[in-house]
Amino acid sequence: MSSPNYGVWRPMAENVEFNAMDSNSNAVMAVADTVRTTLGPKGLDKLLIDQAMNRHISNDGVTILLSLRAIHPVARMIVEIAERQEQLVGDGTTTAVVMAAEMIKEGKRLVRELGVHPTKVVEGIESGVRHACDLLEKETKNITLDGVMLEQIVKTSLSSKLDGKQLASLVISALRMVGRNAVYDGSFNFDKSIMVIRKTNMEDKVVNGIVLERKRLDPEMPLDVKGPKIMIVKLDLKPVKESWLKENTKYQDILTMENDRLVKAKQIVDSIVATGANAVMIASPEIDQVVEDLLVAKKVFAVRISTEEIEHLSRYTGAKPVRLLEDLKKPDILGNSRHVYEDEQDELIYVETGSNQNMVTIIVSGSTKETSQERWRAVLDGINAAEAALNSGVVAGGGSAELHIIEKVKKLRLKGLEQVGLDVVMSALESIMRQILTNAGFNGLEKVMAARSSPEGFGIDINTGEPVDMWKIGIIDPLLVKTMALKAAGEIAKSVLRIDRNLAAEDLSPQAVSETKR
Ligand code: ADP
Ligand code: MG
Repeated sequence: MSSPNYGVWRPMAENVEFNAMDSNSNAVMAVADTVRTTLGPKGLDKLLIDQAMNRHISNDGVTILLSLRAIHPVARMIVEIAERQEQLVGDGTTTAVVMAAEMIKEGKRLVRELGVHPTKVVEGIESGVRHACDLLEKETKNITLDGVMLEQIVKTSLSSKLDGKQLASLVISALRMVGRNAVYDGSFNFDKSIMVIRKTNMEDKVVNGIVLERKRLDPEMPLDVKGPKIMIVKLDLKPVKESWLKENTKYQDILTMENDRLVKAKQIVDSIVATGANAVMIASPEIDQVVEDLLVAKKVFAVRISTEEIEHLSRYTGAKPVRLLEDLKKPDILGNSRHVYEDEQDELIYVETGSNQNMVTIIVSGSTKETSQERWRAVLDGINAAEAALNSGVVAGGGSAELHIIEKVKKLRLKGLEQVGLDVVMSALESIMRQILTNAGFNGLEKVMAARSSPEGFGIDINTGEPVDMWKIGIIDPLLVKTMALKAAGEIAKSVLRIDRNLAAEDLSPQAVSETKR
């Protein structure tokens, strides 16, 4: 389709046309079509290929979206929304994109075929989404840490992933190991208590403790310390700096400095050892070779850590970071754990079972970097789903919760034409189950009709195609994932439907824009 340019406007990027409604909604459909077939447990995979012919097979909505080389600005918008959904609740990205596409398709039809003004459609979407979220909230059930529903939520969330079953059991055991220790200010936050690291070519496992992807400072240090006294060091471990030496420094000065270096290093190491510490986690920026050698001589286990790791280790072992030499005299600086050791082959350091037992590490592996990345993302999805479910409850999965509120949304009476905007939200609510079932090889629409005439909580069994109570078979989703996805979809749909022209602009970088404002 050619754009009416009249030779007036500067042309835009290829494929971005002035006629906004078509160009933009096509872009949304194109993006949605790339991920919609991955939705649900029977979703198909995508083969991603980059320009250097690197390839990767993925079934994960966000991974696929983030790797697309989409240039259309509206396509990029969808990718950004998906990314935001991932950050906010960590699951439900494909759901959000599929609903957004449905809303835009239906909205465009209303505008084009029935001549409804876009602002009316947008207002209808706004009320519809708000109302649908309230209705979903009313359907919510609460779950507990030790109940069977925790297992169901994790399994449902991972059912579409590579090795979903295996990963679900890792996640569930990690969740239960940290348990209520992950509650902060009344709600669960597993970010602080479950670390997930990705490796290649080793066994998946859950470790009751912290695992650092590091090696000892020196290979001659002990490999393994039972019942270590742990110290976290932020001291200046390079007491004499080489940069102090000037070109014309006298030999005598150098000697004095070198002596000074030895004395100070010895003083530091001696005072560390005097506290009884035998496993030192070092977050200092530089470590003098002499300090390192002395630590080796004293048979101390030492490893470098990052500033972020300080927090984890400190909370887990009870060790207080030592910043000044004076701090070494304080009584409560050392932390404890049952065992600190390095696995030389996998280049991992384990700090197992600290005195404050509230950290668990899941190690996910894969045969290639990409598979391990994909499995790592899946594990995070599972943890996030559990967190959202524990904090805000669950609804029936497989698109069933959404489907069964349609009748109630319909009853919402809006004045005038906004009422038709509700249709947009209703088709989006229906689209999830339809897509999941289409992906499973059924006639989606037909199966949705069958589910709709079944009681609340019913959906379609993905294997037999028969109506089934989703609660009974344990297919459940976190409320928060559903409402966030619905809101995100509504946001995109509203912005896309409101645009009537795409225009080529001069510089829109934040800097240029702030200059024109001045
Ligand atoms: P998203 O990126 O949106 O999380 P997924 O591919 O993870 O997409 O699919 C999630 C959807 O699949 C949820 O609506 C969930 O209820 C549904 N689902 C998972 N397992 C089943 C199942 N066995 N039967 C029907 N629906 C399922
Ligand atoms: Mg998911």
